[in-house]
Amino acid sequence: MTKNRLHAIVCKGSFFVFFCRERYNKKDMNTHKNTLGILGGGQLGRMMVEAASPLNLKIKILDPNPEAPCANMEVDFVVGDFNDEETVYAWGQDCERITIEIEHVNIAALKRLRDEGTVVYPQPEILEMIQDKGLQKQFYATHDIATSDFEVVENAQDDSRIAVPCVQKLRTGGYDGKGVAVLQTAQDKENAMPGPSVLEPLVDIEKEIAVIVARDEQGNIETYDPVEMIFDPVANLVTRLAAPANITQKQSAQATELATALMQKLEMVGILAVELFLTKDGQLMVNEVAPRAHNSGHHTIEACVTSQFEQLVRCVMGLPLGQTRLKEPAVMLNLLGEPGHTGVAQYIGMHEALALPGVSVHLYNKKDTKPMRKMGHVTIVAPTIEAAHANADAVEKVLKVVG
Ligand code: ADP
Repeated sequence: MTKNRLHAIVCKGSFFVFFCRERYNKKDMNTHKNTLGILGGGQLGRMMVEAASPLNLKIKILDPNPEAPCANMEVDFVVGDFNDEETVYAWGQDCERITIEIEHVNIAALKRLRDEGTVVYPQPEILEMIQDKGLQKQFYATHDIATSDFEVVENAQDDSRIAVPCVQKLRTGGYDGKGVAVLQTAQDKENAMPGPSVLEPLVDIEKEIAVIVARDEQGNIETYDPVEMIFDPVANLVTRLAAPANITQKQSAQATELATALMQKLEMVGILAVELFLTKDGQLMVNEVAPRAHNSGHHTIEACVTSQFEQLVRCVMGLPLGQTRLKEPAVMLNLLGEPGHTGVAQYIGMHEALALPGVSVHLYNKKDTKPMRKMGHVTIVAPTIEAAHANADAVEKVLKVVG
């Protein structure tokens, strides 16, 4: 064979490989290979689907509830248990990339899918660690991340060096204040929730702050401005959020630095909501993290250049990070089911609320309301945070969810 002929064959071969790869990429764009899988079809999934829509991504969701907020959206909605290994594994077969909207999902299945070539973000090992509040606290302690003192115990009744008053947190399964209890007296400790727990001294909290950090596959990081979370003391869940937080510039920089350091140490891809305590004596410490879109970032839809939901989609799909700049101050109100009301949800005062300036209402497509159930949220943007709070007060007065 002449040298020229050999050269021609090699060139043709290269062209063939190039041609096949191009065809494959085009196929990727039009078939399941472009599918983003989301474990969980609740309100966070719903807002992710809305954010993914302009990017024309195909979405496949797994949720046990056939009436979940994502159920009637234009997605491949599969009803099934995201805690069951075989269900998650089978569901994930035709996804190119997978993420979560809830961290309490089956990790073994995610590891199998990842080992077989599916891209899974956040990484399953990080989800596994974050699922357990004991391991989370140990991670902070060993990686020099400021956090409260703590002890991991088999049972809160056990002897421990953390004296009452203290806070008990079940290591697994808690959310939105459930699985967390303040133990004021020795008697409370005797009657504490059973099960492996973390005990923490009661921190003297001035403010609760959250910072959302995004990290892409290359390790680039973007952070959103710190926000302030205002809690309902009885239900122990966030009722109002202010962006930016009413803290000093130095505190804001410190909170951002702490959240960034944590994300760098985790080396996680995706978005991480870092919840922090600002103590009465001015210290900042990490309380806990959520490795996903979070209630403390809902305002980003209207108030920031890139919403937390779009940012997560970008991270998971290997796309560049978007800008996080706060365009305008914002207040976010969680729209909770009225106490004393249960049944098919009805929304009172929608007309009056939407007539106020800068108001955007997001309803989560939940059929039934119950006391303090998160049924939606409202974001109020304004030229100043004071004006946003004033309009938020007005919204709070008129907009109610009753059953
Ligand atoms: P969850 O995962 O249910 O959100 P958290 O750990 O965030 O649980 O605790 C819920 C709330 O309980 C916090 O936002 C805070 O108001 C309060 N809390 C938690 N830990 C402490 C603590 N060590 N001291 C005082 N209050 C705490």
